Amino acid sequence: MLWVTVSTGVDDDERGPTVRCPFCRHPDSRVVDSRETSEGDAIRRRRSCPECGRRFTTVEEMSLAVVKRSGVHEPFSRAKVIAGVRKACQGRPVDEDALALLAARVEDTIRAGGVPEIPADEVGLAILEPLRELDVVAYLRFASVYRAFESLADFEAEITALRSNELRSGQRGVTQHTEHDSGPPERLVPSR
Ligand SMILES: [Zn+2]
Repeated sequence: MLWVTVSTGVDDDERGPTVRCPFCRHPDSRVVDSRETSEGDAIRRRRSCPECGRRFTTVEEMSLAVVKRSGVHEPFSRAKVIAGVRKACQGRPVDEDALALLAARVEDTIRAGGVPEIPADEVGLAILEPLRELDVVAYLRFASVYRAFESLADFEAEITALRSNELRSGQRGVTQHTEHDSGPPERLVPSR
């Protein structure tokens, strides 16, 4: 059995992307069987080559790259999200599980956008909401860096927004999120 990892964008086609036969280089192959991996974040397809008849398996994962302001691309990393948020959480009652859960939510939010590349800014944006729910002090710290607060007025405006949000969330549901499976910590994407 041969494994080929294919990175794809969002792909609604049941047959998946066209994959060249790794044995005879025939430009297409037939999908014999498709199933999600146990973690549900990739699709495993058994393929057969119409030319040489050999079989192989591909694992398709949706690639997710973060594009920095410098133009450098790097793979999305939950570990990096956690590292950034952890700084903002210093001295706050936020444990590692909560950080892992937050990073999983951030990744879900970003993946739900369905695009294979996102600007680094959008990662920060996706962090704000779950962090606000987690700890407002950490949120303010993070937001002050992310949004480049320059004056007390910036903090004031943010605190005013937080207050009105607190009032509104008296009726909850406004900021409610769909439940999701964060997965075990070993799913964390290794940072490179
Ligand atoms: Zn072949």
